Amino acid sequence: MDLSILKNKYKNCLGPSSISVALAENNCQRNIWLQYRHKTDNNDSVFLEKYQLKHSAGLSNLISYLSTKYPNSVIEPEQKLPIVKFRGVSIYGIPDIVLKDKNDNSISVFDVKTGVRKTSHFFQAGFYFLMLKAIAIKRGLPEPKLKSIGLCYDDGSSTFDPETYENKILELKGQSAINEIFLDPTKERLKEIFDVVSQKNLPDATPTSGNCKFCKFKDYCPEVCIDEELIVTNSLF
Ligand code: SF4
Repeated sequence: MDLSILKNKYKNCLGPSSISVALAENNCQRNIWLQYRHKTDNNDSVFLEKYQLKHSAGLSNLISYLSTKYPNSVIEPEQKLPIVKFRGVSIYGIPDIVLKDKNDNSISVFDVKTGVRKTSHFFQAGFYFLMLKAIAIKRGLPEPKLKSIGLCYDDGSSTFDPETYENKILELKGQSAINEIFLDPTKERLKEIFDVVSQKNLPDATPTSGNCKFCKFKDYCPEVCIDEELIVTNSLF
């Protein structure tokens, strides 16, 4: 693969959403390695703008819900976190909402999603908590007490309704929520991903239609899987 035709990122970095997709949806090591270092031209700015509008509307609804449900909490929307380096890999992140409970100093992390439910979403929200924990420890602050990790599925198509909004929320509560998200095999896989990303050489590709379909580098990768072979048969037995 000719890397010289790819644009370099200003700084090598990954966001928790890319890491989560690598954990749950795309097991091509080359894909995540490339994402850490390179960017591609985005030709669909209208799609992105529409997504941003839906996301902003969903976020506003979530803020209304949380301020009603937790009046004693501080809501911090879209705060940019400092870059955190895990196993040699720089991670940047902007959690949609960090909710700080003034009574017991616990925190909750919420992420707004405008599409269908996916496992990777909990990985992403959980990863924000891991970053917050690493930042607090590095700054000599007490380790944050986890109250919950939540997802809000809201595309902003309707205004906030206090009676029904709970249906849009998926929440894992309590300190153990982080271990429910990151089970031991997932933690191992996470370490593998970081080791691959930090390696110097371009990793081998794993071309499958599932991996390549939404890969940003499919126009540059010679191994791209164009389509899966269609097997036609009249006899299964
Ligand atoms: S196009 Fe496919 S094989 Fe190539 S990097 Fe992307 S996911 Fe991997």
